[in-house]
Amino acid sequence: MSKVFPKVLERVVQNLARLPGLGEKSATRLALFLLGQPKEETQELAHSLLELVEKVRLCKRCFNFAEGEWCRFCLDPERNKSQICIVEDPAALSAIEESKAYKGLYHVLHGLLSPRDGLGPREIKIEALLERLEREPVEEILIALSPTVAGEATAAYLVECLKPYSVKVTRIACGIPMGMDIRYADQLTLKRALEARQRL
Ligand SMILES: [Zn+2]
Repeated sequence: MSKVFPKVLERVVQNLARLPGLGEKSATRLALFLLGQPKEETQELAHSLLELVEKVRLCKRCFNFAEGEWCRFCLDPERNKSQICIVEDPAALSAIEESKAYKGLYHVLHGLLSPRDGLGPREIKIEALLERLEREPVEEILIALSPTVAGEATAAYLVECLKPYSVKVTRIACGIPMGMDIRYADQLTLKRALEARQRL
């Protein structure tokens, strides 16, 4: 630790340097910026961080972030309760929501199956999903996981788990991204795109 700054400032630098993407240099720059800001603005940042850790928890039903027991989607009477979209984490949920193409409920796994990292069906909320199916009038489960190795393995496992239930299981289509030249698409992407072709 440098001896240049007062201890309180060094403490802020050390804390900021632990954030992803910030090294000691950028943490120092940020700490000095915060110190140079009007006092109220930095206080507001500090208060919002306190509120974040005190108030945000996981929705009792879908495990999305929530301020109370249930998240805003579970509380919204306009959402279609017969559909559950399965996402890896709240960031994926936010991406789907921004598409404005989905109006059902969610189930947030908070991870993908990874036995090596100790992530089994219980840890990633698959058991909780099956419990939901026992009490909720669900007709369709839409799997919206990324087509990565872990995403594919988790999707395959989910399909197996859902077999005994009388729900329609669907998966978001994977294929050529908008604006991409198909000559540069990899084999697997093209294969998936061809399999998911649509009648026009
Ligand atoms: Zn919820």
